Amino acid sequence: MMKSPSDISMPRQIQDVTHAEKQVSHADSRSASVKRDVLGVSRDDLRALMEEAGEPAYRGSQLYHALYAEWRFDFASMSSLPAALRQRLANDFRVGMPEISQRFRSSDESVRYLLTLTTADDGQQGSEAPARVEAVFMPSDGRQTICISTQAGCAVDCHFCLTAQLGLVRNLTAGEILAQALIALEEHRESLAPRTNVVLMGQGEPLLNYEPVMAALRIMLDPNGMALAPRHVTLSTSGIVPGIERLGQEKIRPKLAISLNASNDKERDAIMPINHKYPLAALLEACREYPLRSWERLTFEYVLLGGFNDSPEDARRVAGLISGLRAKVNLIPWNPGELPYRPPTAERVAEFREVLSGRGIPTFVRYSRGQDVCAACGQLALSEAAPVVATITPASPPAPLA
Ligand code: SF4
Repeated sequence: MMKSPSDISMPRQIQDVTHAEKQVSHADSRSASVKRDVLGVSRDDLRALMEEAGEPAYRGSQLYHALYAEWRFDFASMSSLPAALRQRLANDFRVGMPEISQRFRSSDESVRYLLTLTTADDGQQGSEAPARVEAVFMPSDGRQTICISTQAGCAVDCHFCLTAQLGLVRNLTAGEILAQALIALEEHRESLAPRTNVVLMGQGEPLLNYEPVMAALRIMLDPNGMALAPRHVTLSTSGIVPGIERLGQEKIRPKLAISLNASNDKERDAIMPINHKYPLAALLEACREYPLRSWERLTFEYVLLGGFNDSPEDARRVAGLISGLRAKVNLIPWNPGELPYRPPTAERVAEFREVLSGRGIPTFVRYSRGQDVCAACGQLALSEAAPVVATITPASPPAPLA
C-alpha cells in the first residue's frame, strides 16, 4: 500500500501521540454529544442537577413536575421554565422516551404498545443495550389500567409464559419503566377516566431489578410526581422471597401480588422452576411476615391451566396454603396461545372459585384483556418483540399431577 508523505516523514513516537490525541478528542466529542437522560431521575437529584448548572434548585422541581405531572417530554413545551433554560436543557439533556414501534388496538379497546428503548441522541448506543418491551393500556369504566414491563425478557422461566422464552435481555432503567406508563397516559390524555391503575405484570420479574423498579415506583407514588395512590399500583412477583422481605421494609411501596399458580411444590416445580429455590413453605412464610397496611390485602394470582392445576382438590389445597392471610385470589383462566396448555372449562373455573369463596377467601375471575392483540397475560413476547420466539419448539404439555 502506498504511504502518504506524512506517514513517511513523521517519527513513530509522534505518530503514536497524535493517534492517542485523536482518540481522546473523538471520545470527548462523543461524550459531549451524549446527552444525559433526565427521565427516571428523582426530584432531589433534578434539583441538585439544576444547582450544578448554576440554576436555582426549584427549577429542578419544575422540571420534575413538567415530566411526571404534566407529561411533557419535550423541553420546549415546558412552559413553566424560562425559554433560555429550556434551550440549555435541550442542548445538554434528553427525555429518553422509548420509540413506539407498533400499536395493536384490541376490539375491547385495549392498546398493546411495542416499544423500542431509545439510545442517545447522537445515534451512539447509550449505557444500556437496545431492547424492545411491551406495555398494555386497558380502559374500563371509571379507570384505566396500564400493565408495564420491568425487564426486557425474563430469566425466571415460568413454563406457561411466552416472555420466559426470550430469556433475560436486560434490566430496564427507572426511566424506561416510568416511560411506559407515561406514554400510555399522554396518548390518551383527552379520554382518561379519573383513576389510573398501574400493574407491574408485563415482561420481567420486578424484584430481580429491584433498585430501578423502586426508583420508578417512588416517582409514580409521589404526590408531586405521577401522584398515583399506593392502592392503585401493584407489583407482581413470581415469589422472590428476599425481594418480598426487602419490599416489606420500604416506606413507599405498591401493593404486592404473588403469582402462585399451583397448590403444592410438585405442581409448582413443574411450571415455575423458581419454586426449587423458594418453595411454597418459604414463600408463604414471607407472605405471613409481610407487613400489610391497614387497608391492604395480598393478592394471589392463579393461572388456571386446564387439567393441570384446576381441580377442586387444588382449590382446597390453595385455601389451606393461604388460610389466615389477609388475601384475595385472582383466577386467570389460561389464554389459548402458542404454549402447550389448554384453557380450563367454565365448570372448573366456577368450581374452583366456589371452593375458595366458600372458605371465606375473596376470589375473582379475571379474563385477560386484549387477547386478539396478544396483550393478555403470558402473551407479552411475540415475534415482533423477539423473532426467536417463532423458532421455539413447544415442550410437551405437563401431565396432571395428583
Ligand atoms: S410469568 Fe413473569 S416471572 Fe414468570 S417468566 Fe413470565 S415474566 Fe418472568
